[in-house]
Amino acid sequence: MIDLHLHTARCGHARGNMEEYIARARQLGLVAIGFADHIPMYWLPPGQCDPELAMPQEQFGDYVREVLDWRDRCSGMSIYLGVEADFQAGYEEVLDGLIKVHPLDYVLGSIHFIDGWGFDNPALRDQYVRHDPDELYERYFILVEQAVASGLFDSMAHVDLLKKFAFRPRRPLTHLYQRLARAMARADVCVELNTAGLRVPAREMYPAVELLRACFQHGVPVTLGSDAHAPEQVGWEFGRALALLREVGYSEIAYFVGRRRCCRRLP
Ligand code: ZN
Ligand code: FE
Ligand code: FE
Repeated sequence: MIDLHLHTARCGHARGNMEEYIARARQLGLVAIGFADHIPMYWLPPGQCDPELAMPQEQFGDYVREVLDWRDRCSGMSIYLGVEADFQAGYEEVLDGLIKVHPLDYVLGSIHFIDGWGFDNPALRDQYVRHDPDELYERYFILVEQAVASGLFDSMAHVDLLKKFAFRPRRPLTHLYQRLARAMARADVCVELNTAGLRVPAREMYPAVELLRACFQHGVPVTLGSDAHAPEQVGWEFGRALALLREVGYSEIAYFVGRRRCCRRLP
């Protein structure tokens, strides 16, 4: 199995260094891992970047070098250089510039903000009550579709993150799921099966099974990630993830080398 979504203490809200994540991955017998720490908050002026949400701008080069260093030193397990990057409409060129200067293997796209509100931040959780759930889901999925269409990302991380605190829509999301799966197929972007949802009030993986099925039906490839923010979370519940992938019909998972998609058959 391949875990493409690992953070490190560098992002300011995770625990552990790369060595500890690598050791845990080895213990689990993973064939490959990818670090995908949070990209610097490129859409904000430097003074407004929160060092507890993402690594500071001046650390990005060090992060890249550290991953490449481990990649060169590590035998028996592949290590890929990724990043988790927020999509911010209007800042596509800034992100593109930031991505291009580094020899990244892949970029995970994510949405953590709706109109500046960090809706997945536990400290801002009280703001959900101000919103109509159906409208909020509609707005959120429009942002995800914009991110998908931007062409900036290889796989979309925790694609239904809005459910994190179990703030659920009243209406079924079938039409939004169908629309998104079609958009992902058209843009040739992968969907990530992310087990971190099992650790939060949502108590289910991202994406919802119905959305994962829609992705499969539209031929969207899948990547796998634990979104580990501590070494012991590497490969979190991958047994359940594998069972779900098989049940939905997937027979392989995707990974990336130099932003070129590769695939590996599921065990
Ligand atoms: Zn994080
Ligand atoms: Fe994230
Ligand atoms: Fe993450």
